[in-house]
Amino acid sequence: MQDILQSLSSTLKLNTPSPVQQLNLSWLGDDLPQVWVKRDDLIHPIISGNKWRKLKYALLEASQSHTKNLISFGGGFSNHLHALGYCCHHLGIHLTAIVRGDYTANPTPMLQDLHNWGVDIKYVDRKTYQKRNEAAYLAELAEYYQGTVIPEGGSQHQALNGVSEVISELNEHYDYILCPVGSGGTLAGLIHGTQSMQTRLIGVAVLKGQEYLEDLVKELLPHPTNQANWQINHQYHFGGYAKRNSELVEFCNQFSNQTGIEIEPVYSGKLFFALCDMLKQGAFSPQDKILAIHTGGLQGTRSS
Ligand SMILES: *Cc1c(COP(=O)(O)O)cnc(C)c1O
Repeated sequence: MQDILQSLSSTLKLNTPSPVQQLNLSWLGDDLPQVWVKRDDLIHPIISGNKWRKLKYALLEASQSHTKNLISFGGGFSNHLHALGYCCHHLGIHLTAIVRGDYTANPTPMLQDLHNWGVDIKYVDRKTYQKRNEAAYLAELAEYYQGTVIPEGGSQHQALNGVSEVISELNEHYDYILCPVGSGGTLAGLIHGTQSMQTRLIGVAVLKGQEYLEDLVKELLPHPTNQANWQINHQYHFGGYAKRNSELVEFCNQFSNQTGIEIEPVYSGKLFFALCDMLKQGAFSPQDKILAIHTGGLQGTRSS
């Protein structure tokens, strides 16, 4: 298995372990705790960030079992479909992408890439897309396309092992680790990886989903947790998924100018906005060591 992983990694030219960098946040004020960033956005220019973590073992299994077809889901800007499409292209696996909405007349840059990588794109209406987690529909798709289904966002039980490697790559202890929360797989994987540690995890919800997101995370975890070391902050979704206002957009520009680290308003922008706001509000004590996971996602902001 190690051999296959090694060859996957070199075929895809991945940069792991990803670096950890300290952030200079003196522009926010004095006496702030020290903050580091795990630069998963640098793992690969296309398969950036948490999507590689989440897909790693599913792709390993597909390679080992000589799976010829994979099927997955996403919207027109999906970072998940983009990462998976690129991997499949380079690993010689056929991918069927079930996409919400009809972009035939106006494909996004993400969909154009999928097309160039030979991905079979199927546009479906909202109602059909809503069935994406229903067992009967998934069985039908698997049968029809003779393939294995990977859920939306790549968030499945298998994803936890890949994500928890973020933790095993760390050389130091952190009091707090923060990440954005979309479908919950990343936070669940980090919880899985920090089980025996004194680390507190804070997920920043990028969409409106109080309780719903907590339930998604709990469903992904292998053992029921008492939720002692993790929580999701719901104050920074800016009205919903991909919703933004000028304050958020300005913050993203300012953060990039100040730190040299590019962020975007859908995921990493909301994460760092939340982190900086919490720092300013005094949510942490000055001796805390904080790590933010930069999950990547810059491709999603390209406009057509
Ligand atoms: C998909 C994605 C997330 C959300 O991760 P989940 O595991 O779905 O919660 C966060 N950041 C980026 C850049 C993403 O593409």
